[in-house]
Amino acid sequence: MEFPTANTVEAFRENLAAVRAKIERAAERAGRNASEVRLLPVSKTVPEERIRLAIAAGAHQLGENKVQEAKRKHANLIDEDVKWSIIGHLQTNKAKEVAAFASEFHALDSLRVAEALDRRLEMEGRSLDVYVQVNTSGEESKYGLEPGAVPGMLEALRGFETVNVKGLMTLAIFSDDKEAVRTCFQLLRRLRDEARDRDPALIGPGELSMGMSSDYEIAIEEGANVVRVGQAIFGARPTTDAYYWPSATAKQ
Ligand SMILES: *Cc1c(COP(=O)(O)O)cnc(C)c1O
Repeated sequence: MEFPTANTVEAFRENLAAVRAKIERAAERAGRNASEVRLLPVSKTVPEERIRLAIAAGAHQLGENKVQEAKRKHANLIDEDVKWSIIGHLQTNKAKEVAAFASEFHALDSLRVAEALDRRLEMEGRSLDVYVQVNTSGEESKYGLEPGAVPGMLEALRGFETVNVKGLMTLAIFSDDKEAVRTCFQLLRRLRDEARDRDPALIGPGELSMGMSSDYEIAIEEGANVVRVGQAIFGARPTTDAYYWPSATAKQ
């Protein structure tokens, strides 16, 4: 896929509009309303000067995979109207930083991290919207709970007042095989539906955070409520995916 780099506010407006148009068409194909799908632009690796252009073009909530990078951008862009979503795996020793400035966390994959977040959030007098990450591809390189661990995790999260469960999150398999990708999204939806059937109180609005530049249209057809899109808005990333997902083979 070709992802030209946006270097002006106008270019960002165009890229955002193009992605939104594709979101609308995918929703239409699935008989859904596009208003059920939130676009979360992902600004990882993008320098602050270019992020300012994207904000001016209307991106007021941004996803970042790494806490240190997000923290730096949050500080450098404190004068801007923008909120931050952490979308990558978190180590417990970084929970403190996420609790201090993030508004959402899309990659909750262990009870220990939830405990660490809860402790810090309580101190800060804040709360955090979270999505429980599930490994739907069975790939060892992927973070996330095994599908079978989802019910127990949701049950355990009931005890944390500061952690608001919004739904489930996944990364599909890295593959050109669209049906294999679709199967991952279908699994996440089934897990959400089963959780709702068991106890709707445990999964909040039951949203599905799934889909990125290469597969967000498929994700929407399968029920995505949040799509996390980076390269289709900001341009191709210089770093390979392996930097963000330890053993992912380059999939640019
Ligand atoms: C980088 C990233 C995305 C967006 O990927 P693009 O290819 O830039 O659209 C989505 N989700 C997560 C967890 C990411 O780290």
